[in-house]
Amino acid sequence: MSVFTQRFDRVVIVGGSIAGSLAAAAAAPYFREVLVLDRDQFPTTPQQRNGVPQGAHFHALLAAGRNAMDELLPGFSEQMLEMGAADLDSTADVMRLDRLGWSPRFETPLHFLMASRPLIEFVIRDRAGAIDNVTFRAGVDVVGLLGDNGAVTGVRLAGDGVDELVADLVIDASGRRAKTPEWLAALGYSAAPETLVNAHWGYASTFLRVPENWEPGFKALACVPFGEGALTPESAQRAMAMWVVEGERRWVLTVQGSAGDYPPRQVDELKAFVASIGAPELSDALQAVEFPEKIALWRDTTNRLRDFAGHGDRPENFFSIGDAWAAFNPVYGQGMTSAALQARTLAQELAEHAASGVDSLKGLADRFYGRTSELVSFCWSSSTALDYRLPGVEVTVDGEPQEVQAGSADFSDRLAAWASLDRDRYVKYRETTQLLRSNEWLQDPVVVDEIKQNWDELGQLVKVR
Ligand SMILES: Cc1cc2nc3c(=O)[nH]c(=O)nc-3n(C[C@H](O)[C@H](O)[C@H](O)COP(=O)(O)OP(=O)(O)OC[C@H]3O[C@@H](n4cnc5c(N)ncnc54)[C@H](O)[C@@H]3O)c2cc1C
Repeated sequence: MSVFTQRFDRVVIVGGSIAGSLAAAAAAPYFREVLVLDRDQFPTTPQQRNGVPQGAHFHALLAAGRNAMDELLPGFSEQMLEMGAADLDSTADVMRLDRLGWSPRFETPLHFLMASRPLIEFVIRDRAGAIDNVTFRAGVDVVGLLGDNGAVTGVRLAGDGVDELVADLVIDASGRRAKTPEWLAALGYSAAPETLVNAHWGYASTFLRVPENWEPGFKALACVPFGEGALTPESAQRAMAMWVVEGERRWVLTVQGSAGDYPPRQVDELKAFVASIGAPELSDALQAVEFPEKIALWRDTTNRLRDFAGHGDRPENFFSIGDAWAAFNPVYGQGMTSAALQARTLAQELAEHAASGVDSLKGLADRFYGRTSELVSFCWSSSTALDYRLPGVEVTVDGEPQEVQAGSADFSDRLAAWASLDRDRYVKYRETTQLLRSNEWLQDPVVVDEIKQNWDELGQLVKVR
């Protein structure tokens, strides 16, 4: 790494999970020292840890997220595979049930990495920590920001030892429960508008032990009625996914329910919950496996957007990334990918900044938010669209309840049906849902006209059993 490009002294990153580690990789070429602080302890092997309780639940890594991780941390995929992750064909290996029925199965170049969340995070941190000027410090609780003259100048730490750290840049990657508004308020800044959308989804997850040489005909089984609607009115918005992860005969299982219809913690009750979805293939799979580990529950699935990008009253040399900025309902599997794409944009922004020869970081936060807000808005609209249609959804802006205006799924249902009629088109559609491809082609007037002209026929492909 060239010392020439390291024109700034220190960047402090709060949070050493997915967003923080990827931001460290992005910033490393431009700072003498990259210091990543986390109040939790980091395990020395891929294990569940207290600072990331969501690690007990299944984490889908979208293809775009994997690519961005490979770009920021070359060798990421190889290390994942060496440590036991599975590389699956997104259509041939995955048996997927949605409102159109079972998805077509054929070989494609579109592949996924399947692994547990602890392994994904472990490999990212391991590779980021191997960069010469990146240091991870565990057990360090950041409790506030230092500021001067319109800019953040460092962080305040809890405890009796060194209680302040100065930095040229502070990046907040402290996750879904970030205290950023309080920290900024203490420096005299007004709060950015905060929107919450809560459709009361709940998770129940565990790791399964599957029979030796088990060949059920898939390596991942997913029932995602939430993608385009529900399978039956009684089982509205219940969902399930199970797939191979690293470890001997180990698979992860996650069961989801919305509108306060939370999946239970007991094995038999959980099986009954899945059976109510009305697809015997799901229950058959669960009959074949053992449940050796405890079932973990999760209910904090609120979409939360703090509009830092649109809020002018904020300091220089500070921005939030990942869940600390926008936390999406995890049911749609976008959080890690959004964090990775944000970090990749940060790397591009810093490269351009360095090339311009400017010796100050002034304006960096503005440009970072400006370049990433389209991605965040896209993830926000796709993860809230269905939530708006669910009974009992609560929407607030700055704590004030909002009237909910649910959009119709009629067009998106037919769009999915149209895409499924042709293999190339279907792969293109899946690439779009994996954030590999912009969705502009789906808004092309030719596509829209074709759907309108075949409205009734396409509508008949949408199954409401
Ligand atoms: C149940 C569930 C399922 C999910 N499923 C998926 C999925 O399928 N696919 C997907 O892409 N995403 C999923 N997500 C989202 C995903 O977990 C996050 O988007 C992703 O981890 C990025 O988070 P992050 O790095 O911003 O924050 P986190 O991973 O939450 O990490 C925050 C870090 O900051 C540290 N920290 C917090 N406060 C402080 C402080 N004051 N000082 C120092 N350190 C601090 C914490 O210890 C932690 O290490 C899911 C989330 C949940 C809740």
